Amino acid sequence: MRVIVVGAGVLGTMHAWHAVERGHEVRHIEREAEARGASVRNFGQIWVSGRAGGEELATALRARELWEGIGARVPGLGFRATGSLTVVRNDAERAVAEAATRRPDAAARGYRLLDAERARAVNPALRGDFTGALWCERDAAVEPRVAQLALKEALLASGRYTYLGGREVREVVGGRAVRDDHGETHHGDAVILCTGAWLGGLVRELAPDLPVRRVRLQMMQTDPLGEPLPTSVADADSFRYYPAYRGDALDALDAGQAQAPTAAAHKMQLLMVQRADGGLTIGDTHEYRAPFAFDTVEEPYEHLTGVVEAILGRPLPRIRRRWAGVYAQCTDTARVVHRRQVRDGVWLVTGPGGRGMTCAPAIAETTANELGW
Ligand SMILES: Cc1cc2nc3c(=O)[nH]c(=O)nc-3n(C[C@H](O)[C@H](O)[C@H](O)COP(=O)(O)OP(=O)(O)OC[C@H]3O[C@@H](n4cnc5c(N)ncnc54)[C@H](O)[C@@H]3O)c2cc1C
Repeated sequence: MRVIVVGAGVLGTMHAWHAVERGHEVRHIEREAEARGASVRNFGQIWVSGRAGGEELATALRARELWEGIGARVPGLGFRATGSLTVVRNDAERAVAEAATRRPDAAARGYRLLDAERARAVNPALRGDFTGALWCERDAAVEPRVAQLALKEALLASGRYTYLGGREVREVVGGRAVRDDHGETHHGDAVILCTGAWLGGLVRELAPDLPVRRVRLQMMQTDPLGEPLPTSVADADSFRYYPAYRGDALDALDAGQAQAPTAAAHKMQLLMVQRADGGLTIGDTHEYRAPFAFDTVEEPYEHLTGVVEAILGRPLPRIRRRWAGVYAQCTDTARVVHRRQVRDGVWLVTGPGGRGMTCAPAIAETTANELGW
């Protein structure tokens, strides 16, 4: 079988991966020379901890397993079983963490409530002010800036994979074929469009009523910390954004403790992960309404710097990079992804939202199973 994959972000690359694994030939077409969308701009968090119970958690756990296996074969991904600590600073925050450990699926996530001393034993870089932390053993990380490239190298070595960068797919022609902006037509037995947050043009023509919206985030990365940060780290604001924490304890936190004004204005949480070079990737904000800002603003960075310095108990290294990214999210946020046949033999897979890096290997595996590859 010949599979045409459009879009070289993590979703497209993982579809290519599963197709090649199952013995098929893949032609992979990307508008840019290489991926430049959400997949290279994210934290690289394989984030199990806050997932909704049920399909979303099952997808994340399966994806975590797949990432680990692929990471063993492709060391360039930088897969690390880091786990994560969501630090809490008072009783109300601690109650949310405690409630999470009583979930029926807590063991599957590897949740444990730690006091501050135990949290520091797991992550000695946390020398700041907090009273405890929710440990999630299943969380992991990869290196987003290089993951797609590392996967591409491994796919090229298979001999069944062709990569065509710098070509925008403009049209679906006839059955199971696409035409690019070089005027070349590519025929396959199946076409998978993984075009991310580009919802206009070709995608609008194929699926005008797409139930997917765009979300913009601001991020930053520091110079090397100069010491290991062995786990990923989150603050209690992240409880407000992930469905696993919903319940009475979160309602009480929301009612009794307002977010800092900047955090509330920019819909923020702290997520932080150490990169392979020792720098820290730190975020994030959420902007839901277009037109999105075309520049980054400082207030969220100042807020995050304060939060991180309080947790680490030390000043942050210099901020080396600042950027923004946009992902596509199903408007029904309970849906893991929007997967739909848009023409004969042509499927559009988009809208995994803020969990796309986590879930991509499992989402692509489901596509492969459903299409009988
Ligand atoms: C700042 C930020 C932080 C995030 N952090 C995390 C995280 O830590 N963990 C997590 O699980 N998720 C995270 N996410 C979400 C995750 O990054 C996305 O869900 C995921 O990367 C989406 O992958 P994708 O392949 O669908 O899209 P993209 O990575 O955007 O790739 C789509 C590709 O399609 C190409 N393309 C589009 N149209 C065409 C066309 N017509 N022809 C050819 N090529 C085309 C684009 O150029 C692009 O390269 C984050 C997102 C952002 C923005």
